[in-house]
Amino acid sequence: MEPTQDFADLQHPAPLDTALATLLMQHGASAVCIYDAQDRVIRWNARYLEFFPEVKSIIRVGLPFIETVKPFLAVQHPQAPAHEFPAAIDSAIHRHRTDEGPLRYQRADGRWVELRMFPQPDGSRIKLWQDVTAELGPGTDGSQLLGLMTVVNVGLTLHDADGKLLYINSRFFSENFLGLITAGPDIKLRHERGDYWRRFEEIFEESPDYSALRTDSGYGPLKTPVILRAKTGKFYRIQEQLWNDGIASVWTNVTELMTRENALKSAHAELMVLNNRLLDMAEHDALTGMPNRRRFNAALAEAQALVRNGAPCAVGLLDLDHFKSVNDRFGHEAGDAVLVEMAKRLNVAMEPGDVLARLGGEEFGIIFRRATLPEATAAAHKLNAALSRQAFAIGSASVTLTCSIGLAALTVLREPTVSLRQADMALYEAKNAGRNRVLAERSAEVAAPPDALEEQDIGTELVAALQEDSGLDAAQLRAKYENAHGEHPTITREMWARALAERRTLDHYWGWVDYRVSLALDEAETP
Ligand code: GH3
Ligand code: MG
Ligand code: MG
Repeated sequence: MEPTQDFADLQHPAPLDTALATLLMQHGASAVCIYDAQDRVIRWNARYLEFFPEVKSIIRVGLPFIETVKPFLAVQHPQAPAHEFPAAIDSAIHRHRTDEGPLRYQRADGRWVELRMFPQPDGSRIKLWQDVTAELGPGTDGSQLLGLMTVVNVGLTLHDADGKLLYINSRFFSENFLGLITAGPDIKLRHERGDYWRRFEEIFEESPDYSALRTDSGYGPLKTPVILRAKTGKFYRIQEQLWNDGIASVWTNVTELMTRENALKSAHAELMVLNNRLLDMAEHDALTGMPNRRRFNAALAEAQALVRNGAPCAVGLLDLDHFKSVNDRFGHEAGDAVLVEMAKRLNVAMEPGDVLARLGGEEFGIIFRRATLPEATAAAHKLNAALSRQAFAIGSASVTLTCSIGLAALTVLREPTVSLRQADMALYEAKNAGRNRVLAERSAEVAAPPDALEEQDIGTELVAALQEDSGLDAAQLRAKYENAHGEHPTITREMWARALAERRTLDHYWGWVDYRVSLALDEAETP
């Protein structure tokens, strides 16, 4: 059937006032198409076919609206993936039934079109397209921005105060995701998820930004830009602002940026993992996986800090007895295997929080945290028992091993290295005494903890000692000593405690204080 231009040629009864229809059809500037209540084409004019040449070969009375849309979408959105078309068609139908326009859009051929829809009381609809290229096209005032929008890689939608879509630069949206542009144009009430927002669900992946957008309950521009990840893998940044009481939405494809940022993030995470592994390697022994000397020294310093805060701690050195004979009898590799197995046994027997480190071949350091020397001794016995209770299997043979352990307390009165040396001496004694035993440094070697002495007593005793040796009375002494006090390093409470605990060192400190006091006296007498 040849398309008709003249209303008089119609093969179908007019659904509306004949005079009006005639007027419309003959209105040369507009493309007109009329649909019945079942969305079937019943009238069109020649201008309509100029606007939509793609439907020229299929147009006929009774053709469902949807059939006229399909070829149009294919022309308008050539890059759109096929799977987006069903949704695009659905929303085109939705718009066809509910929207009234005016809606302006640019056709793929560059022409600008304004669409208005007039629903009729009997359910039919008149659709009227006008070419507004002269108003918006190249060379016109209106074209400047809109023309720009078609070439820049930025998406723009403009919505009026009611949320109705006024403008959309189709080029950007069709190149990125066809569905969105053809969806219902109502941006309002994001949280109610009208058509416009429902399409978002199909297009975007879940993300904190996306859920924030979806649960936004008001109508108004987004307070902060959001970045959404489309299921295509692309990222879009959406920034909105008030525009003529409505909303202007600016969309930017930030895929490249995000890809780079994500690559950077994952490179960073990888580096952190590597770093941690390096750190781990630097602080652990390769054969047994136990902490090494480096870690042991750090743990020793930590324990010493605990001691300064008043907690008791001890340090131990463990050496396997006659380990050389294991190597001699079964070979070095078997010896290694025994070391790995013994590390496991010791680890199981360790108190949580304590540190066991491999310091050398078959020598281990132990830090007993929050343990007095007797408590550490008990824990050390447990370690030896865990080690020797069961024989180590080496091939078909088996060998029972014991160890010797030397212990020392960590105290504020000495450096931890001094305590370690004390433990080493105790270990040496344990070996000498026949091995397979735990020995702690002799109690006389452990200086009395400072807490045991009242500060007041230290002061009183020292002042008495100072008076006796200097011949000064208390008031003189205090005046002189206080004057001198600012000039020399503070003698800590621990130093006084130690001075009182060991007569020998008291003399030492006393001599030094006396020297400072006499210096101060000399100074005062010098004119
Ligand atoms: P004791 O300590 O009871 O005096 O006797 P010992 O035989 O254990 O002697 P010592 O501790 O002085 O010597 C350690 C021996 O342990 C020397 C070496 O044969 C062996 N050894 C040290 N490190 C390793 C190691 O990493 N693997 C193996 N298989 N053997 C080691
Ligand atoms: Mg040994
Ligand atoms: Mg040894």
